[in-house]
Amino acid sequence: MSAPAVPQTPDLIRRADAVLAGTYVRPSVTFVSGSGSRIQTDDGRSFLDMTAGIAVNALGHASPEIAAVLREHADDLIHVSNLFHTRPAVDLAEALVERSFAARVFFANSGAEANEGAVKFARLRGGPERREIVYFEGSFHGRTMGSLAATDRPDYREPFEPLPGGYRRAPWNDPDGLTAVDGRTAAAVVEPVQGEAGVRVPDDAWLAALRRRCDETGALLIFDEVQCGLGRTGTLWAHEQPAVTPDVMTLAKPLAGGLPMGAVLLGDEAASHVRSGSHATTFGGGPLVCRVALKVLETVSRPEFLAGVCAAGDRLRRGLEGLESPSVLEIRGRGLMIGVRVKDPAAVREAAFREELLVVPAGEDVLRFLPALNVTPSDLDEAVSRFGRALRRTEQGAS
Ligand code: PLP
Repeated sequence: MSAPAVPQTPDLIRRADAVLAGTYVRPSVTFVSGSGSRIQTDDGRSFLDMTAGIAVNALGHASPEIAAVLREHADDLIHVSNLFHTRPAVDLAEALVERSFAARVFFANSGAEANEGAVKFARLRGGPERREIVYFEGSFHGRTMGSLAATDRPDYREPFEPLPGGYRRAPWNDPDGLTAVDGRTAAAVVEPVQGEAGVRVPDDAWLAALRRRCDETGALLIFDEVQCGLGRTGTLWAHEQPAVTPDVMTLAKPLAGGLPMGAVLLGDEAASHVRSGSHATTFGGGPLVCRVALKVLETVSRPEFLAGVCAAGDRLRRGLEGLESPSVLEIRGRGLMIGVRVKDPAAVREAAFREELLVVPAGEDVLRFLPALNVTPSDLDEAVSRFGRALRRTEQGAS
């Protein structure tokens, strides 16, 4: 799609300010088209998108693979409801089960909703004696009330208290965090790589110890792979690298390549407690979104695709390290989930924007690179050089 001839931003901002709820502060720019890791504004600028819609557009903007599925099925059923069987949901569930530890799948519509479902399934299995959900320092599991109750962000939580009870916060990546899990615990929920906290990777040994603690106490282990899952870290599931398998896993962001979708993957034992009527959703698992998700899953799980993610992640990391900037405090992450700790994140992000480079803030001082998983080497190199220029701008005090 080509950009409209007349820039619409000032008028659009005025209209947006009048009608959109004020939950976001957005820059004065309007994106109108995109392709791969490039995204264009209405006034003809081309940004390099290292956000991929916050780890959503796994196959980039205007993916030909996704467009082909949408075109082919535009006249087919879009929604039928979970009252009836449709084939794409079964095809997708089978494909997820085939590629994971899971025995069964519940489809939802977002990450927060998937986590709500996971907590409900864990409590269903735990019964009245095991209600507690243990979550960890730095966690982010979403903004709905139940997911927020497992999210360690006082500023997100406090305006909405009281949150649902029965949630216990525990130290992260710390042996003390393990003892919070006991005979009252329905589940411990953790991100194998924390995203919003600033791309924090726990020690493999700590995740393994958490798995053992859950086994010893009879609690379920839930991995929230909403951000780090589906190829983002270079393996299909982030938990493959520490070689720790959960009982339940939540997915969302990239699952349907940009269409809203979430999923709860349940191991055999966790699934065995689920009964008809115990949880439900109107939209989850509709035929069209499932067809798109199947295409994404089949594409991303190909070994050569995952090898490409690893190579791209290495290239990005090496490029960022090569900048040797005094403003960069640390570079961390796995695959194409890279966090760069910088001295003045707001100024660097603003300078990057001026260089027509989009990055995502996280934690206190981190800027995340979460590009499309099929980002090209030349787009990565260009993103690194724009980031280098942004760092130099801030170092010279000229953001
Ligand atoms: N879990 C994790 C790890 C996330 O990063 C996010 C969103 O950033 C969520 C859950 C919530 O997902 P959603 O915004 O789709 O509700």
